[in-house]
Amino acid sequence: MTEKFIPLKEISPSQPSLSIPEVLTTPDGELRDALGRPLHDLRVSVTDRCNFRCIYCMPKEVFDKDYRYLPHDSLLSFEEIARISSIFVAHGVRKIRLTGGEPLLRKHLERLIEMLAKLRTTDGQPLDLTLTTNGSLLARKAQSLKDAGLTRVTVSLDALDDTIFKRMNDVDFSVNEVLKGIDAAEAAGLGPVKVNMVVKAGLNDQEIIPMARYFKDRQAILRFIEYMDVGASNGWKLDEVLPSAEVIQRIQDAGMPLQAIDANYTGETASRWRHADGSGELGVISSVTQAFCSDCSRARLSTEGKLYTCLFASHGHDLRALLRSRQQHDDLAIANVISQIWQGRSDRYSELRSKSTDLSQRRKIEMSYIGG
Ligand code: SAM
Ligand code: SF4
Ligand code: SF4
Repeated sequence: MTEKFIPLKEISPSQPSLSIPEVLTTPDGELRDALGRPLHDLRVSVTDRCNFRCIYCMPKEVFDKDYRYLPHDSLLSFEEIARISSIFVAHGVRKIRLTGGEPLLRKHLERLIEMLAKLRTTDGQPLDLTLTTNGSLLARKAQSLKDAGLTRVTVSLDALDDTIFKRMNDVDFSVNEVLKGIDAAEAAGLGPVKVNMVVKAGLNDQEIIPMARYFKDRQAILRFIEYMDVGASNGWKLDEVLPSAEVIQRIQDAGMPLQAIDANYTGETASRWRHADGSGELGVISSVTQAFCSDCSRARLSTEGKLYTCLFASHGHDLRALLRSRQQHDDLAIANVISQIWQGRSDRYSELRSKSTDLSQRRKIEMSYIGG
């Protein structure tokens, strides 16, 4: 039985407030953490709400009608997100992913995308501006997202079989609507769409082959994700993780031979594979069996403006307090606080977990709050 969820405010009640360093230096886009890792990706959670109740993420018995979501004024405003993002970009961020909760539930999200699309990397390039969605509102919104400046989209889809999919999203939502969303995104120019399937052994692993077949001859790139021990409410167990190596083996055994291909860039989370008959590509994200912490260049900004340096962190750094401070800190001051945090970063949770699964008992923040 899953433990009742502990409200976020009670998880990290007394984090010390952040202080501005005495000597300030101008960001040069080359920030490195304590293990020499750069800061290239920023994931921004724009809402802690969702219209799905995926059993591995926001199980119904925890996220029920009594669950207290964050009040609207505690969410970062679009202006605040755009400001903090520009500071991250000055530190070397090239890619921003909007997530949640379900990001398409945040009203007027296109306005935020327009603001972010104006940012330029330190070498003058537009950002890779992307979004992860459950696809439920995508058919309706794909064109306006593209028009606002979104570059690409990732859609989560855990099964092709309606009964299994409904069991997983737990709100009776049909596969067909998500497939329409994927098609609409491709048609709007948000492709190639990446499709993420979380594989939970015994629940949807029989969908690996149908999903691989369906996406084989299509534009969208399917990625299988190992079920992770994020958050405190999904009751994760190691034996529910189906190792990516087995996913690849099953696809090959089903008559779809695969060849490994090189990563697009250092720090890419997915290992890439190509169908040997040339018909397309797929990926596996092996967060549990093959940790990729050594290249992890991702920072996460929670819905209420806390900076998390790892998906499995138990506390975040309150950047919103700086943004809203009466002292009216300028961008340089905030940039230096971020440098200090990043320079002190030594997180490598997945690598350590692979040595001891006891770690997974540690209290962690929910994925719907911190963003996937
Ligand atoms: N609601 C959006 C969606 O589902 O795409 C965005 C937020 S969701 C938290 C981001 C991604 O995290 C999704 O692809 C989801 O499948 C994945 N995810 C959530 N819980 C997970 C878990 N326990 N293990 C692996 N992936 C998980
Ligand atoms: Fe919602 Fe995404 Fe979590 Fe599913 S995975 S409950 S769609 S936030
Ligand atoms: Fe990055 Fe933390 Fe995941 Fe390792 S466990 S890859 S450091 S987010």
